[in-house]
Amino acid sequence: MEPFEKLLDESTRVHGHICAGQVIGVRMSMLGLSLIGIQDPKGLDRKKLYVIVEIDRCATDAIQSVTGCSLGKRSMHWLDYGVMAATFVNLSNGKAVRITALEEAREISKKYCSEIENKYKRQLEAYKIMKEEELFRVQKVKVKIPEENMPGRPLKRVQCEGCGDWVQDKRDVTVEGKILCRQCAEGRYYEILDS
Ligand SMILES: [Zn+2]
Ligand SMILES: [Zn+2]
Repeated sequence: MEPFEKLLDESTRVHGHICAGQVIGVRMSMLGLSLIGIQDPKGLDRKKLYVIVEIDRCATDAIQSVTGCSLGKRSMHWLDYGVMAATFVNLSNGKAVRITALEEAREISKKYCSEIENKYKRQLEAYKIMKEEELFRVQKVKVKIPEENMPGRPLKRVQCEGCGDWVQDKRDVTVEGKILCRQCAEGRYYEILDS
């Protein structure tokens, strides 16, 4: 794997700014990959890797940058739980770890870089040098990834009988015998103004 500083530079470029989330995301990814035995995430090992992220914030971009996994490639799956955690899965042998960024790290960061007055700058610099166990909790886990969430061709493609939209990857639902998209079944996030 590339060294930390290089990975951080790259994620900062992709994300658009340097922030504590980049430092956390890069370190979390490096730890996760090493624990599941992935050495070359964007090269030789790229088809072996799958990442589940539990938040859509800064660190998620760093995880994408380091692992090469993305929503579009379907090697990254986003669960909207609002928790700063990610699970790294080695598909070749099932090894998986869920890593959570510890809330306590904010407090511990005061022990480091105490000369930096600005809280956010101090956290950012401290997170670069703090011990892994001060930053993260690691859980060995077993993950069952539904086959419709895996990369590759869609397993299913059906037309919604309500709105006519085509629904892929088994995201359709059947209500009273009708095949519907989830928005027709559960309500939509938008309102059509004119058509
Ligand atoms: Zn950021
Ligand atoms: Zn529909």
